[in-house]
Amino acid sequence: MRKDKIVIANWKMKLTLAETLNLAKNMKAKLSELKKGTIVICPNFISLADVNKILKGSNIRVGAQNVFWEEKGAYTGEISPDLLVEAGCDYVIVGHSERRKYLLENYEIIHQKLKAVLNIDGLTPIVCIGENTDERKTDRRDFVLVDQLHQALGGIDIVGDQQIIIAYEPIWAIGSGIAIEPSEAEYAHKIIKLTLKDIFGLQIASNNFSIIYGGSIDGNNVKSFADIENIDGLLVGGASIDANEFYKVAKAILK
Ligand code: PEP
Repeated sequence: MRKDKIVIANWKMKLTLAETLNLAKNMKAKLSELKKGTIVICPNFISLADVNKILKGSNIRVGAQNVFWEEKGAYTGEISPDLLVEAGCDYVIVGHSERRKYLLENYEIIHQKLKAVLNIDGLTPIVCIGENTDERKTDRRDFVLVDQLHQALGGIDIVGDQQIIIAYEPIWAIGSGIAIEPSEAEYAHKIIKLTLKDIFGLQIASNNFSIIYGGSIDGNNVKSFADIENIDGLLVGGASIDANEFYKVAKAILK
């Protein structure tokens, strides 16, 4: 069965509070005609509740850019999965490469975060994986992807129809303006699918996982990713902070 496609906007730390709310309003109006698939917007933490209020009743869901692995307690500056749900989030990005780079998150931490998110009803994790420039140049991409998946997902119990999104985001493509060749993304997604099959078996790999691509997607290059068999959607950074550009991306994918 073919899955509904998903397009996720990662606004990172690129907007002021006022700009965030304004863009949420523009997105709500601009994207309202798109009736298929799922659209998710991930604003900064402190805008989540307000963005959720703006988008209530629309075709856009809200996601967070990060989460902590504990439920409650003395964890200064952290936000639990429960708090995200309370703020109206249905999705959360786990282990984005910018957090791996600047906050030194590793796959042990990502594994903990993933477990905490899966403990909470109604929160879907978007788990980021992807090789860096050096790993790509030295032909280690496949090994890196398999290893990251094993570290993040090994020993995780998936129950019922719990969904997990794997975002394949080659680090060299993020924010660089150079997206991966669609055929290369297709190949990497195949490796990911096979690894999920190895870890969880065919049924769970097919029913409970979506595999999306992220890295320099925009309104111009999106068309070459729209019809690729095993790409279930896109994670979009730079092009998602412009309502017209993000509309072009979403329209091309959500058909
Ligand atoms: C991202 O940061 O997840 C991303 C895909 O960014 P960009 O689209 O700007 O490459």
